[in-house]
Amino acid sequence: MLQKNIRNFSIIAHIDHGKSTLADRILEITGAINSRLMKNQFLDQMDLEQEKGITIKSQAVRLLYPNKKLFNENIYKFNLIDTPGHVDFQYEVNRALSACEGALLIIDASQGVESQTITNANLAIQNNLKIIPIINKVDLSVINTKKIIEDLRNINNIDVNDIILASAKLGIGIKSILNKIISKIPPPKGIITNTLSALIIDSWYDDYKGVILLIRIFDGFINIGKKIKLINADKIFQIKDIGVFTPEKKMLTQLSAGEVGFISANIKHIYNIRVGDTITSINSDIESIKGFVPHQSMVFSSCFPHSSDNYNQLKEALQKLSLNDSSLQFENTSSQVLGLGFRCGFLGLLHMEIIKERIEREFKINLILTSPTVKYKIYLKDEKNIYIDNPIKMPSVDKIHSYFEPYIKAQICSPKVYIGSIIKLCNEKRGREIEIQYLNGGNVNLIYALPLSEVISDFFDKLKKLSKGYGNFSYTMMGYEKTKLVKIEILINHKAIDALSFISYDYKILHKCREILKKIKVLIKKEQYAIILQAVIGNKIIARESITAYKKDVTAKCYGGDITRKRKLIEKQKKGKKKMSKIGKINLPNSLFLEILK
Ligand code: GDP
Ligand code: MG
Repeated sequence: MLQKNIRNFSIIAHIDHGKSTLADRILEITGAINSRLMKNQFLDQMDLEQEKGITIKSQAVRLLYPNKKLFNENIYKFNLIDTPGHVDFQYEVNRALSACEGALLIIDASQGVESQTITNANLAIQNNLKIIPIINKVDLSVINTKKIIEDLRNINNIDVNDIILASAKLGIGIKSILNKIISKIPPPKGIITNTLSALIIDSWYDDYKGVILLIRIFDGFINIGKKIKLINADKIFQIKDIGVFTPEKKMLTQLSAGEVGFISANIKHIYNIRVGDTITSINSDIESIKGFVPHQSMVFSSCFPHSSDNYNQLKEALQKLSLNDSSLQFENTSSQVLGLGFRCGFLGLLHMEIIKERIEREFKINLILTSPTVKYKIYLKDEKNIYIDNPIKMPSVDKIHSYFEPYIKAQICSPKVYIGSIIKLCNEKRGREIEIQYLNGGNVNLIYALPLSEVISDFFDKLKKLSKGYGNFSYTMMGYEKTKLVKIEILINHKAIDALSFISYDYKILHKCREILKKIKVLIKKEQYAIILQAVIGNKIIARESITAYKKDVTAKCYGGDITRKRKLIEKQKKGKKKMSKIGKINLPNSLFLEILK
C-alpha cells in the first residue's frame, strides 16, 4: 500500500473526555471488532485500566477504512493510538505523538476546554501534528459549544473550521471524523531506500520471544531476517518476527516507511533497550532521530518486598516494567529493618500507585513503599551542592548551609465560583500567585508557583473536591527555591527506624509526628519490658509515647488440655515472627510499615 493512503494519528484529551470511547466507535466502524466481542474502552486491556476506568498505556492499532468488503480501491490504512489523559502519563502521550502526523483533540462538550486540553494541544503542535478538534458528548443536555469554539479559536494552529461535533457514545459524527482524518491529516512522507530509520516508541517483554519493540518507520523498510542496529545501545540484532495489532495480533513479513508495527529480534537483555532509541541498517551512520525527551522523576520512594525471599523477583519485575514504562527509574537500596530493596523514581503519585499495583498483580509480589519524597537541593558549608531524594542520605545539620526545594508552575482552570476556595488551598500549600486570567465564559485560569512536595500529597484530590470535579490542573517544573527543611526520625527504644524517616518543611510536623507514634503504639505488641517511641529532629525530641511492659503467654488461654494444642499455638507464634523485622530486641510486624506508610 502506498504511503499516500496511510494516516497515523493519536487521540488526545483531558481524562474522561471520551478518547477510549471514540476509539471503540472507530474500531467498530472499520470492522476491526465484531460487535459481539465489543466491550467498552476496548483498548484499555489491563485489568487495572478497566477497573479504574482510565487509560494507562497507549495502544497502537492498524485499521482499514473503508471496510474492505465494501470497497476495493482507495482503502486507507489507519494507525490509531489511544493515549492516557492524566498529567502523570504525559510522557506516554508525547511518545505516541512522535509516531503520528495528526491528532484528534477531544473536548467534552459539558466540561469545555481545560488546562490539560491546552497542554495536549501544545504537545501536538510541538510535534508538528495536524490537529482535528472534536467536541464530544453533544448528546448531553447541558453543553456550551459556542464557548468551546471561542476557547479553541485562542489556541494557535487550530482551525475552527475543522471542528466536528460528535457523540462517541451514540456514534454521532464518527464518519465525518474519519473523512476529516483522510482529507486533513497528511500522509507520511518517508523515503523507501536501503537506509532504515525507525524510532522505538514502546517495548515490552515476552517470556518466549524476549523484548518486543513497537516502532515507527520513517525511511526504508524491514523484513524478516534483516539485521538492524540500535544506535544508542550500539547493538545489532536480526529480526525474527514482524506484526501489527488489528487489534488482534497479525503477523507480517515486512513493514516500510510510514508504518507502525512491532518486531522481535531475540533480544534477551533488557538493559540494552531504551524507548526513544533509533533503529537503522547495520552499515548506515545516520544520526539518531530526535526522539522525545525522557521525563524526569518527580517523586521518590523505596520499595521492599514483604518477604525478603522475593528480592530477585522484584528486581526482575522492575526491569520488565521499566521496559514497558521508560519513566520508571530504580536503583539498589537497603534498610536495616526492611532489608534489600530499590529506590524508585516516579512521575507522580498516581504513577507510583499504578506501578505498585502492577507489581502486586502482574508479578504477584507484595510490596512495602516508604513515604514519597521529592528531590531536594542542599547547599553544604563546604560550598558543595548535593541533591537528596532519600531521607537516609540527608547530611547532619551542622554540615548544611541552606536548603532548596523544587517548585512547579501550576495552571489551575476552574469556574469562577470555586476560585476563592482554590486560592485558599494554594495559600495553605505555600503557593505564590503568578497570574490570574479571566477567560471568556466564566472560567478562571490561576497560575501559581507551588512547592512540588505539597502538590504530591493530597493537592489534586482536594482541588477536585473543592471545585466539585470541575477544577483542572497541569504543571511544569520551575526550578529550586530556598526553603527550611528538617529530617524527622522515629526512634524505638532509642534506635532509629530508617524506613520511617522523612523530610518535611519545618512547620505543622508536631501533629504528624504524634499521629505516627500513636499508630505505632497501637500496632506494636507489648513486651516484657517498656518500649519508648520518640520522634526526633537531630538531638531534639519533639514527640514521645511509651508502651508499658507486659508478659505475654500465648498458651495461657488453654490451661489444662492437651499438649499438642499448646504446641500448635507456639508454632503459630513462631510463624508470625517470620513476618517481623527486628529492631534491637523488639519485633516489628511488617504490617506496621504498611499501616504507617499508607
Ligand atoms: P477517556 O478518559 O478520555 O478515555 O474517556 P472514556 O472514553 O473512558 O470516557 C469517559 C466517560 O465518558 C465514560 O463513562 C463514557 O461512557 C463517557 N462518554 C464518552 N463519550 C461520550 C458521549 O459521547 N456522550 C456521553 N454522554 N458520554 C460519553
Ligand atoms: Mg481512556
